[in-house]
Amino acid sequence: MKVITVPCNFDNYAYIIICEKSGTAAIVDPAEYYPVYTALQKQDVQLKAIFCTHHHTDHIGGLEEFLAEDPSLQVYGFKDDASRIAGLNVMLEGNDVIRLGQTEGRVIHTPGHTSGSVCYHFDNHLFTGDTIFGAGCGRLFEGSPAQMHGSLANLITGMAGSTHLYFGHEYTLQNLKFAQFVEPENSRIQKRVEHSTALREKNEFTTPSTLEEELETNPFLRCSTPQVKKNVEERLYVDGQSPQTIFAALREQKDSF
Ligand SMILES: [Zn+2]
Repeated sequence: MKVITVPCNFDNYAYIIICEKSGTAAIVDPAEYYPVYTALQKQDVQLKAIFCTHHHTDHIGGLEEFLAEDPSLQVYGFKDDASRIAGLNVMLEGNDVIRLGQTEGRVIHTPGHTSGSVCYHFDNHLFTGDTIFGAGCGRLFEGSPAQMHGSLANLITGMAGSTHLYFGHEYTLQNLKFAQFVEPENSRIQKRVEHSTALREKNEFTTPSTLEEELETNPFLRCSTPQVKKNVEERLYVDGQSPQTIFAALREQKDSF
């Protein structure tokens, strides 16, 4: 499977995914019509489907125009979001198996950022929408910290460290500042800051990362590590009885960081 990253809006990412064996393509989060359309035109593929990670306007801004152009497109999203994603015609549930050409993928329901957030997993590629960002996670608009913590755990359980994570926004450098605040002693975070800064200076993307990289540097995936627990307890005056408590404290702190 081939993945093309398409920057949209101010800091969104849409992705074009292509099953090379069949020459079919899908869009993950058509944030904007024109840039995605232009990127598609450069490929010799047939657009078959749109995979929506969640209902927010900045992720589905181009959906209506793609559907107007081809009303036969399959539009995938979580079943309960049918009233919030106009044109949704393939209602998903967690663990559904989906196909693009000859490539099989899996849907993971990850409520927290929104109640209907889903991630799409194809081969070595995971499309996380606003659930996981580079060194961060989405704000909790429609879920509790415990729910999001559970969603993240469910998402990555059993997943290979080499899996590429394609996220919905270019927030990595801002998120890494917070990661450094949480864990100033973590040299992996410092290395990631240097690497991501160099990428952004060249106007390149920090997406995709790998799960391994996130596990080493993303504070929201490190709530069980002793150093994060200790730092959160000392700095945020939280009694970290459980990883969920640590997660909740981190999320609250990040909201006003
Ligand atoms: Zn969102």
